[in-house]
Amino acid sequence: MLLCALAGNISLLRSSGRWTDCHSYKHPTPTELSSGDSGSVAIRRLALGCAATSGLLYGQVDPIMREPMRASETDSAYDVAVIGAGVFGAWTAYQLQQSGKRVVLIDAYGAGNSRSSSGGESRIIRMGYGADEIYTRSALRALRLWQEFFAQINEPLFHRTGVLWLAHDYDPYPERCAETLAKVGIPFEKLTTNELEQCYPQIGLDRIAWGMLEPDSGALLARRAVQAVVREAIKNGVVHLQDSVEAPPGKGSLDFIKTASGRRISAGNYIFACGPWLPKVFPDLLADRIQPSRQDVFFFGTPAGDQRFTSPALPIWIDFKDEAYGFPDLEGRGVKVAIDRHGPPFDPDSGNRVVTEESLLEVRQYLVRRLPDLRNAPVTETRVCQYENTSNGDFLIDRHPEFANVWLVGGGSGHGFKHGPVVGEYVAARVEGSEEGLEPRFSLATKRKSQERAVF
Ligand SMILES: Cc1cc2nc3c(=O)[nH]c(=O)nc-3n(C[C@H](O)[C@H](O)[C@H](O)COP(=O)(O)OP(=O)(O)OC[C@H]3O[C@@H](n4cnc5c(N)ncnc54)[C@H](O)[C@@H]3O)c2cc1C
Repeated sequence: MLLCALAGNISLLRSSGRWTDCHSYKHPTPTELSSGDSGSVAIRRLALGCAATSGLLYGQVDPIMREPMRASETDSAYDVAVIGAGVFGAWTAYQLQQSGKRVVLIDAYGAGNSRSSSGGESRIIRMGYGADEIYTRSALRALRLWQEFFAQINEPLFHRTGVLWLAHDYDPYPERCAETLAKVGIPFEKLTTNELEQCYPQIGLDRIAWGMLEPDSGALLARRAVQAVVREAIKNGVVHLQDSVEAPPGKGSLDFIKTASGRRISAGNYIFACGPWLPKVFPDLLADRIQPSRQDVFFFGTPAGDQRFTSPALPIWIDFKDEAYGFPDLEGRGVKVAIDRHGPPFDPDSGNRVVTEESLLEVRQYLVRRLPDLRNAPVTETRVCQYENTSNGDFLIDRHPEFANVWLVGGGSGHGFKHGPVVGEYVAARVEGSEEGLEPRFSLATKRKSQERAVF
């Protein structure tokens, strides 16, 4: 039976219920804050740009989180300081707090900011990873954790659009995906070109030999999802600061970190989850081991009233042999299309985030082939983001070789977003000192200085 409109009720994602209930920390309201002495003192301190010096913190309207955040004392001691509130840092802070740790989460530009790799509109969560079973299993668990999280906060930030792999002749990657999904027990459907034509007449099948649909996969609304994780973490007790952390000097055991605004923050462990900034924070160690690449992303407007390019008529599609992928029109943003090939080197702070004419031309040529009825569609939005590539695409999650209590977390390499909840669990286990499930592929030792992409 065909799964044209994702009508199937197949679901393997049964909960095993690791997730615990949230604590119920309630932020002081602005009125509460301003009514008492401590509130007005705190507000005065804020106005003066001072750090709070005592007690339970104060309310400050965080422009990103749009709710009061708590600030720490200068020199407060935490169990863990997480630097970077992208998807990896946000989930790490969340999971560590759930396991009872006192956590401070610090981000230079704010959670899900437009320069961060996690700051995009949407990210694919798919199960297919060729023969790479570790990522397939991780994606499966991550999807469940994301769904549980969204149910808990009552926000629909996952769209079950389905993910359609478009396979060319002599295209081993989708073949390996199908084998791994079958082995792990994840539902999928192989489609002939005739079936593809019937189900998705809007997709041009030039050079396509067959397809494979993952019906339970789909899109995560990335920026909003990361901000939601941070918001929940703060609600549960994580302290969130917007500040830039300086590179730690020396070696041995790190006593504290310093920030651009002059804070000194001490913690038992420090997790640097700085995504594409990791090579800037640790240039000697990571300059060539994590290479940020520029990636241009386009959204195209669909014809008025035309439902062929929205979900469920159009799923997310992956066309790796043509180095491209796309999303249906979600929430009226337009059909998103991008080239997955690594672009030129990119600086996440100062890189120019205006797309180029060449990349628009390339994406339009792709549209002519794959979504011909959108060949002349207007561009409704563009973004320039960056991948943070390790040599082969495996994540980097390891202890810093020169600091006993510093961890490096990153190398999402254009596919990391979906795994956020599992990366958070993995890092929390490392900080706890557990050796269980240690993955050698995430080690620093396996990261080379040349690019040989193997994980997509
Ligand atoms: C165009 C594009 C498409 C992608 N598509 C997908 C997809 O479909 N599916 C998927 O799973 N993945 C995808 N990815 C990859 C995924 O988005 C990234 O791997 C992931 O978001 C990386 O998250 P991160 O937390 O490591 O880094 P980031 O999100 O970049 O977060 C790092 C944070 O650290 C902060 N920071 C840096 N330095 C400091 C400092 N010194 N002090 C304080 N804070 C600091 C930054 O402000 C930033 O917020 C895509 C990426 C791009 C760019």
